[in-house]
Amino acid sequence: MKKCCKSIRTIVECVLVVLVGGLAIALINRIPDSSEPKVKNIIYLIGDGMGISHITSTMIAQQYTPLALERAEYVGLQKTYSSNNLITDSAAAGTALSAGTKTYNGAIGVDDNKQPVENIREVAEKMGMATGVVATYAVTHATPAAFMGHTESRNQQDLIAEQFLDTNVDVFFGGGQKYFMQRADSLDLVGKLQEKGYTIATSLEEIADIKEGKVGVLAARKGLPTMLKGRGNFLPEATTKALEILTANAKKNKSGFFLMVEGSQIDGEAHANNLEGVVAEIVDFDAAVKIAFDYADKHPGTLVVVTADHETGGLTIINNNNKFDVAENPIAYHFSTGGHSGGMVPIFAYGAGAEAFSRVLENTDIPLIMKSLLAE
Ligand SMILES: [Zn+2]
Repeated sequence: MKKCCKSIRTIVECVLVVLVGGLAIALINRIPDSSEPKVKNIIYLIGDGMGISHITSTMIAQQYTPLALERAEYVGLQKTYSSNNLITDSAAAGTALSAGTKTYNGAIGVDDNKQPVENIREVAEKMGMATGVVATYAVTHATPAAFMGHTESRNQQDLIAEQFLDTNVDVFFGGGQKYFMQRADSLDLVGKLQEKGYTIATSLEEIADIKEGKVGVLAARKGLPTMLKGRGNFLPEATTKALEILTANAKKNKSGFFLMVEGSQIDGEAHANNLEGVVAEIVDFDAAVKIAFDYADKHPGTLVVVTADHETGGLTIINNNNKFDVAENPIAYHFSTGGHSGGMVPIFAYGAGAEAFSRVLENTDIPLIMKSLLAE
């Protein structure tokens, strides 16, 4: 009898724990709502080189305090291979993620026949939406370049910079003065951009009072410093500023907006097999993810997709002694390459339309799904 009472009490306690636990989860996570309006705004965050072990390493470094990206309502995986290589580079992956076309390594916004392919930012621009790109490396570097230009080679960064003039992009924040302001030819790209109505600055501080319009910030000659070398809050601050300006411009156009944000330097730290650097870059990128998710909470109709272009470093988290029954088993981080690897990378989706990404996808599916969601 006593034993029975005890087990009944245990059941009641269990039910209570589940109920309270469920409530806590409900409070932490926004419940996907079937009345969520159609997709009006898209925030697309790409962690360059960010594999699952890079994210796990960051979780371990933070002692499993949840990352912002863990708020994702739907999670998927994507296959990263390019058209001519099982191991993609950032240019082919950027083109796949921007235009929905598998292409050869090195290609920026062109297909295997070197013909331009339309990217999702251009689709949004054609629909009258405000658009922007934010990066911590040069805005002409592979990933943002794939949302801005079309060149046979990722090395044609002078040409990619010129192609910014062919777009109607509202904001571009990152590095790359070399390709706009310090060019080998005499082309005055800054002057031409100003003629088109852009304010061009070299720091976010300079544009603190600007709330709308066309704005470019080129905050470094090529890339900004890494987090370990003192980049500070550029990425989260640039993301906040871009959202402020895009929101104002979209309101004026009576449209929505498209913003791509790249955590550019996770990749470089992983190429250098520098785990501390990888973690610092992901913590910074995650701060931008938080800003995007918070924006979606306050602005129904906003879709946020967080993914990577490929994994860099072949990072694994291993046990040093293979004795799994030892308490406090020491772990070690092992990079198997100074290059990229071919594993699938995660997709974290949040807000309007997010459920469409909860699958195993090709990298090329992502912009195509975004396009179909915008067309609804
Ligand atoms: Zn990359």
